[in-house]
Amino acid sequence: MQRPAPPLTPRTESFWRSGEDGTLRIATCQACGWRLHPPRPVCPNCHARDISFEPVSGQGVIHSFTINRYQLSPSMQPPYVLAEVEMIEQKSLILLTNIVNCAVEDVRIGMPVSVTFDHVEDAWIPVFQP
Ligand SMILES: [Zn+2]
Repeated sequence: MQRPAPPLTPRTESFWRSGEDGTLRIATCQACGWRLHPPRPVCPNCHARDISFEPVSGQGVIHSFTINRYQLSPSMQPPYVLAEVEMIEQKSLILLTNIVNCAVEDVRIGMPVSVTFDHVEDAWIPVFQP
């Protein structure tokens, strides 16, 4: 069973659909270049409202993680890793995600990871692998 698709809203749809072409895009302030995630309508850095989605490298580092060993959802088979990945483009630009294609025991803070996508219905959920 697949995981449920995230809700696509006008504010988040570009993020969830970004992976369709294999590229991760993050909401980016067009006035100052600040990247913001989750997407918001106003830049927290300069308060501009001109936000659009720009490609990033898809490279990051595991900032923190936990291993879930319980069946919390019928569609997510434990054990799996829930992680905060800090993108290399900007300090504190963090995605809450899963680490895949890696034994849960091998996951470490500081491990370099790159994005891949879990395609569910109309969404391409960014997940990361070593
Ligand atoms: Zn800004």
